[in-house]
Amino acid sequence: MQNVLLALPPIYLSRYQLRNSLFEPSVLLVNTLGSLKIGEVKEMNFVLTEEQESIKKLVREFAEKKIAPSAAERDEKELFPREIFDELGKQGFLGIPYPEQYGGAGMDSVAYAITVEEISRACAATGIGVSVHTSLCSWPIYKYGTEEQKMKYLKPLAEGTKLGAFGLTEPNAGTDVGGATATAVLDGDFYVLNGTKVFNTNGGEAEIEVIFAITDKDAGPKGSTAFIVENPTPGLSFGRTEIKMGIRSSVQREVIMQNVRVPIANVLGKVGEGIKIAMTSLDGGRIGVAAQSVGIAQAAMEAAIKYSKQRVQFNKPIASQQTISFMLVDMAVQIEAARLLVYRAAFNKSNGIPYGKEAAMAKLFASDTAMKVTTDAVQVFGGYGYSREYPVERLMRDAKITQIYEGTNQAMHLVISGSIMR
Ligand SMILES: Cc1cc2nc3c(=O)[nH]c(=O)nc-3n(C[C@H](O)[C@H](O)[C@H](O)COP(=O)(O)OP(=O)(O)OC[C@H]3O[C@@H](n4cnc5c(N)ncnc54)[C@H](O)[C@@H]3O)c2cc1C
Repeated sequence: MQNVLLALPPIYLSRYQLRNSLFEPSVLLVNTLGSLKIGEVKEMNFVLTEEQESIKKLVREFAEKKIAPSAAERDEKELFPREIFDELGKQGFLGIPYPEQYGGAGMDSVAYAITVEEISRACAATGIGVSVHTSLCSWPIYKYGTEEQKMKYLKPLAEGTKLGAFGLTEPNAGTDVGGATATAVLDGDFYVLNGTKVFNTNGGEAEIEVIFAITDKDAGPKGSTAFIVENPTPGLSFGRTEIKMGIRSSVQREVIMQNVRVPIANVLGKVGEGIKIAMTSLDGGRIGVAAQSVGIAQAAMEAAIKYSKQRVQFNKPIASQQTISFMLVDMAVQIEAARLLVYRAAFNKSNGIPYGKEAAMAKLFASDTAMKVTTDAVQVFGGYGYSREYPVERLMRDAKITQIYEGTNQAMHLVISGSIMR
């Protein structure tokens, strides 16, 4: 009854209130005195739209067929799957939330979160590549770029013919982005970039980098500027490749800039807006990382359920032991809660509702969930969970990074407390 009422246009709402015979007094109270204002009534439901359902089905089918089967081998051999990214691009999965005129699929951020979740369920390393490409490289160009920049850079990114990366972190500037020292000095029609970035996901593989450099070292937070840098450009090279605990088929490289000349036309947003662009990009990026976390946790839970039904000890499947089945229940509850936080943050983003706090909450909760669920999944597998023969040890290694990148979970506490203490 309440849902019907809330779904009604405002005029009917007030007529029903006047007539008053059909509804409980408490329902009327919600609508006259509650947080909803007449005229701002929004429909609320927890069901995916047809479009979101169909993208989920499409991505899942693709990921199970083309990404999952080789995920363990890629992890073992640290193979970056460029051919998979090319195929993802052809399928339209690398530009989900961007308008068709810029090569995108014209869908919303929930559809995008579902895409990252489903890809990560098959391979978390591929999932983060997609997330960085879409949220951290394409999005700032979409949001802050000129029309010319969008046509030149966003379109091939969204079409998947070019891959994107995001260069913010430096050896001495991680959580403290204000400690960055890479510089950009104006020289005629160019900025000349010097410095080093580290942990650059897709680095060296990507043809387009959004890179941050200091244009005015005395201006504090307003001294940083964002640039679109093409790879290759003379002076731009890629050094050390990180050897990692997890997401091993994702690539992170050092970006070395030695007198890299970037045209003024490639300044993204305004000079001095770098920190703002980086922070707002990371707000959206966290939805991707949170979706990646849900995908990892989902894969671990599914593997644990399957195994627990097959593994017999004491003449019965271990699933029939309450200690095991309750562990699986906790996994399901935590994953569902995490998924709702992710979709809520994504919904806000698509609907022009603030989402920075929501994305930080989603990232914090979903990454902790991924860590907990994958650790418990290893436990359900017993000794075999610790073996590389089964996928759950890889999922546990993959889960750890979600608590670290795009802002550590300690940094998420800072973001959220900054918002709730206001
Ligand atoms: C696999 C991987 C991929 C990455 N991809 C990218 C990328 O594509 N682009 C990019 O720019 N960066 C990338 N990063 C960098 C990543 O975002 C940083 O590693 C992360 O932000 C943390 O910075 P840091 O490693 O320097 O840790 P530090 O900032 O040195 O933090 C160390 C510890 O101190 C804590 N800490 C620091 N400051 C505070 C504080 N004020 N209050 C409380 N605790 C604090 C942290 O939470 C952490 O536990 C990637 C990193 C990894 C490992």
